[in-house]
Amino acid sequence: YREKAERARQLRETERAYLERPTCTADGVRIETKVNLGSADERELAAAACSDGVGLFRSEFLYMNADHLPTEEEQFAAYKAALEALAPRPVTLRTMDIGADKQLPYLTLPHEENPALGMRALRLCFAKPDVFRTQLRAACRAAAYGNLQVMFPMVSSVSDVVRAKELLAEVAEELAAEGVPFRADFPVGVMVEVPALALIAPEIAGQTAFASIGTNDLVQYLVAADRDNSAMSAYYQSFHPAVFRTIQLIVKAFSDQGKPVSVCGEMGGDPRSVPVLLGLGVRTLSISPARLGEIKRQLAGLRMKDMERMAREVLAMSSQEEVLAYLEKQLGSADESA
Ligand code: PEP
Ligand code: MG
Repeated sequence: YREKAERARQLRETERAYLERPTCTADGVRIETKVNLGSADERELAAAACSDGVGLFRSEFLYMNADHLPTEEEQFAAYKAALEALAPRPVTLRTMDIGADKQLPYLTLPHEENPALGMRALRLCFAKPDVFRTQLRAACRAAAYGNLQVMFPMVSSVSDVVRAKELLAEVAEELAAEGVPFRADFPVGVMVEVPALALIAPEIAGQTAFASIGTNDLVQYLVAADRDNSAMSAYYQSFHPAVFRTIQLIVKAFSDQGKPVSVCGEMGGDPRSVPVLLGLGVRTLSISPARLGEIKRQLAGLRMKDMERMAREVLAMSSQEEVLAYLEKQLGSADESA
């Protein structure tokens, strides 16, 4: 155990050295490594210092840590703080993802038999347009203070995107009429969490500036296994070949239109899946700040052509067991790389 502890310490030290440098593969391909943030407090913002920006700003923390719907001013202050701390790097604000596993005690929603398939995220925003408009107003006002991007969670159709963008345009008009300083020319993207989006990815890419793949939900909906139900963990298979084939569809459609795709779910920070994601063409990862050093170090030792080969082989496999056994052999056991 002493040897193990010493090895872990040395590894952490090497990772710290990687934190200071831009993320590159062994053959010099620059990879953007952003972070996922769940608050705008100073400690969290400091953790983003060695990143290429915030790829997922979980705005729902503002709603969940309060006893009331956050006002426009409260939201504006939090978004502005994050944008100023990170500028000129981008902060990707995810509009509120409330509902399903994230409930608010002060906002009673009708009982649903299947909340994960029900009134959550963008769907709830459409049902409560005033709540959504307040958030969009705060976002547009804060955009004047840094490099903002906005993305919508739980999008399941082209009309979802069109409707959300229409609301954004209305809010911008309103702010202009009031003479309030704001910007609304920031990139607007979608989170890909609903498998249907992969099958209409070219049409979705046509309507958006970027996509961020939320693998936590994408896997849940793809294999029909509740992400929070431990009794279903054997069915919740992130390494199911269908997950990689779905990701390939999204990456191809967006890349064909010159639009960036990132991965912001847990798979984007898992050293077993990262090489496959890059092999599929992903060039931006958004991960928990705690994993940044480990992933930067791993990528510095991998060549793109090997990751592309791994992705090709994984795409042709037929089960999670086969994929995991293959990746373990290619990448070394989790214990060696962790
Ligand atoms: C996801 O679904 O992968 C994601 C990043 O969002 P959350 O985990 O907050 O649902
Ligand atoms: Mg999600």
